[in-house]
Amino acid sequence: MTTRAELPARKPDWLKKRLPESGSLLRMESLLREKGLHTVCESALCPNLGECFERGTATFLIMGDVCTRGCGFCGVAEGLPGILDAEEPGHVADAVALLGLRHVVITSVTRDDLPDGGAGHYVATIRAVRARAPLATVEVLVPDFLGRMEHLDLVLHVAPEVFNHNVETVPRLYPAVRPQAVYERSLAVLSHAAAHGAGLVKTGWMVGLGEREEEMRDLFEDVAAAGVDVVTIGQYLRPSKNHLPVMEYVLPEVFDRYREWGEALGLQVHAAPFVRSSFQAGESLVQALGRSAEGHQSA
Ligand code: SF4
Repeated sequence: MTTRAELPARKPDWLKKRLPESGSLLRMESLLREKGLHTVCESALCPNLGECFERGTATFLIMGDVCTRGCGFCGVAEGLPGILDAEEPGHVADAVALLGLRHVVITSVTRDDLPDGGAGHYVATIRAVRARAPLATVEVLVPDFLGRMEHLDLVLHVAPEVFNHNVETVPRLYPAVRPQAVYERSLAVLSHAAAHGAGLVKTGWMVGLGEREEEMRDLFEDVAAAGVDVVTIGQYLRPSKNHLPVMEYVLPEVFDRYREWGEALGLQVHAAPFVRSSFQAGESLVQALGRSAEGHQSA
């Protein structure tokens, strides 16, 4: 275990990634710019961007790239967001059709400034995607809508195949990691979705922020009890010196142990240094559907 005091300046080998082929990067970026679209891949400086753009997939970041919150780990700018772009849902749908996406992930900044927290814009975007790409499956990675379940229900009513909301870390670290969020509120969002007919319920968190192993066990218990089906766990990487420091480079074998813990609770777990909420999300959905089909056969 490599703890804070001993953190080497250079990242360990398992946190090194090959550079992507630039041509596919440029093609994806020019399409996104042409449509005036943002991706969380770019805004959050995701280490998998190259791989995903090369494969022609991306996670659309709707409602602008300025967030009303300032989480200590997140590369997205905090501030006063602009007005919503009413054309954005159609532009996302255009990009989905042009890219031929079979699984579409839609996320957003948190818009605590909007009366419905942006739920209506999610609904409009999902509907536009369904109209342009009726065979595509849709995953939403949503904020907590300040715990307003009537706003959450607006999104649930258009039945995204995957409902995702990240808990991000253990409750003890919330004041530093997610100061404007509340752990119990995020659990309530997940259990509400599970209880109100969401397709798959998914959540995720980072490690390497100073969490303790017993806290990880409690976190697994809490999300399993909330009705979560799929969990993603990845290594926290610092977007800039203005963000929280990495407290630990978690060893790959520790991720394996975390996966075993989750699977023992019946969860589908994707745990590895470069795992992110929507990384290989389409494959994760196929795996989950396979599991539930097996579950029905053996029942
Ligand atoms: S609410 Fe989401 S987008 Fe906003 S700062 Fe936090 S993690 Fe980033």
